[in-house]
Amino acid sequence: MILPILQYGDPILRIKGKRIEEIDGRIRELAANMIETMHAAHGVGLAAQQIGEALQLTVLDISAVEDRPSTLILDGKDITDPRTAMPLVLINPEIELRGETEVGVEGCLSFPEMTADIDRAHSVTVRAQNLEGEPIEIEANGFLARAIQHEHDHLDGILFIDRMSSAAKAALSSRLKRLQKETKRGIRHREPLVSETTL
Ligand code: ZN
Repeated sequence: MILPILQYGDPILRIKGKRIEEIDGRIRELAANMIETMHAAHGVGLAAQQIGEALQLTVLDISAVEDRPSTLILDGKDITDPRTAMPLVLINPEIELRGETEVGVEGCLSFPEMTADIDRAHSVTVRAQNLEGEPIEIEANGFLARAIQHEHDHLDGILFIDRMSSAAKAALSSRLKRLQKETKRGIRHREPLVSETTL
């Protein structure tokens, strides 16, 4: 089932997600719906807050992104083509940032048609659980590392506007105010997709 994606201005986006203690049928259904919603919106990631659930749960799929390279080591195994491991479901993820930072363009399904350059770590290590409740460890580089950091931020109630330069945020300021107002009035109708690289 495709779920409505909450937009900037919805207070749920600012709530830190609760740890998931039990991975039951409801969580599995939620994750399946989030994957369907992410694909329908042509996003590369979706956090539970974006569909109205403040939980430590995010899904990712970077397989449609061809121009921004990623590498993935999953449970110690080098995945030659990271697309084959998609979609990823991360439950209760803990993230460790590694390496240099680099600037790259990002969008967000909760901010239609807005993008900005964001500085992120080039590499991350993530420890999480999968839908079977098993511990998984991911080492990611490049675009996948960026996507994971963006989604992990959502789980803490952090949005990409919080990581923009003040100049970038100022340039978007009137659009941000308008979106926030429309969301608060509950009158905004969701637009279909932004771009292939929308997180
Ligand atoms: Zn986002």
